[in-house]
Amino acid sequence: MADDLTFSTIAQLADRLAARDISARELTQATIDHTSAVENKVKAFNSLNPEDALAQADASDARRAVGQALGPLDGVPISLKDVIAVKDQPLTAGSKMLENYVSPYDATVASKLKQDGAVLWGRTNLDEFAMGSSTENSAFATTRNPYDLERVPGGSSGGSAAALAAGQSIATLGSDTGGSIRQPAAFCNVVGLKPTYGLVSRFGLAAFASSLDQIGPFARTVEDAAIMLGAIAGHDPRDSTSYKTDIPGYRAALAEKKGPWKLGIPKEYFGDGLDPEVGAAIETAIAFYRDQGCEVREVSLPHTEHCLSVYYIIATAEASSNLARYDGVRYTHRSADAKDVLDVYYKSREEGFGPEVKRRVILGTYVLSSGYYDAYYLRAQKVRTLIRQDFLNAYESVDAILTPTSPTPAFKAGEKADPLSMYLSDIYTIGVNLAGLPGISVPAGFSSAGLPIGLQLIGQPYQEADLLAIAHAYDSAHDWSAQRPSL
Ligand code: GLN
Repeated sequence: MADDLTFSTIAQLADRLAARDISARELTQATIDHTSAVENKVKAFNSLNPEDALAQADASDARRAVGQALGPLDGVPISLKDVIAVKDQPLTAGSKMLENYVSPYDATVASKLKQDGAVLWGRTNLDEFAMGSSTENSAFATTRNPYDLERVPGGSSGGSAAALAAGQSIATLGSDTGGSIRQPAAFCNVVGLKPTYGLVSRFGLAAFASSLDQIGPFARTVEDAAIMLGAIAGHDPRDSTSYKTDIPGYRAALAEKKGPWKLGIPKEYFGDGLDPEVGAAIETAIAFYRDQGCEVREVSLPHTEHCLSVYYIIATAEASSNLARYDGVRYTHRSADAKDVLDVYYKSREEGFGPEVKRRVILGTYVLSSGYYDAYYLRAQKVRTLIRQDFLNAYESVDAILTPTSPTPAFKAGEKADPLSMYLSDIYTIGVNLAGLPGISVPAGFSSAGLPIGLQLIGQPYQEADLLAIAHAYDSAHDWSAQRPSL
């Protein structure tokens, strides 16, 4: 019974809560109990707040008892990646640097979820400062893939994906700079949505690469992702890059928008390195859309081959600047044997940051340094414009673009020891961030070894309602997302 509850969708639970069939306390207690039973295997969380979560649940039940009109998230446990601030909760960013930091304020997305009555439950593990594709770069633990505990859940939002897949939360939030929501969603058989850059406020997100970072939901179904996006989207004066646009009813759009759509298949995304079983699952999904009357045509994104290089110049440049604030002086780790002020900086950063973060700060400082700026950073910005233009050209003839989310299913922990092979696992997701577009990963079946496979759909800027409707057409006609791992 507890298991059934904690593997339910938001849509199902909202109905049961409204009918008083269950209480928010029962749901939250079931989530806490189930987490206690599986967390030692999955390691999805950096910290848990059971008493606080139950108090939030009681407040929801009290609102319901007095007959307040409540939204679908009221009383539903939602877990946030440990890089999104929640007042009075730890925020480690997966780093020793922030091991003892407690946030004094709420991120905008956290306060929006609180306003909607969600029960904010736990802090999910990640690669340090969201740099990675496996959660192996976390300073605290490697989260495990619930479908195969020897394998990674993906990253950097691996804890958010794994917690949801393992029934330890009902929906979660992650952040996506180059694929960190979509790739772990694909690895863990859940839906993951990266919204258009600027749709969701980044206020209260520990910054990695500010021109690429975007917060988005993980959910069991596209319908649940639509509910979550509706809750967190919208202009925020505290994020100067947040866009003023009307927020449509994303959930209602799923029923209203029926297609048929024109879908583009970028030929550059189906070459070397694509696992044949992933390729076959995507071909089957393409056939599904054709059967629904959609027009499917090949498109070209000719600058795709430059995405990875451009990303690792721009992202590291921005990271080197953003991470300069962690200097040992104020809220960060401070070295115990620093003798003078320079020592405080050097030793605190030496001790506080892990190897991947250091690699990126060094690389980012290099590409921004005088003499190299024009050759690397400026050039990368120009190629970034061409990458975005590729997508916009394609959208002259199609409504959305369909690709695999990741070239392979989940890999084993320890398998990708050199950084470049790890970086390559994001080749299908990074272009979407460089172009600022919305992208969603939807469960699309399993490999012969029982590992989840994800289908990526890429939409037009701020057209999340269309993107979700296209994804929902596939998701609601398949029962992949109802599968559960045996833990
Ligand atoms: N894996 C990519 C990286 O390591 C993307 C990470 C992310 O989206 N935060 O940078």
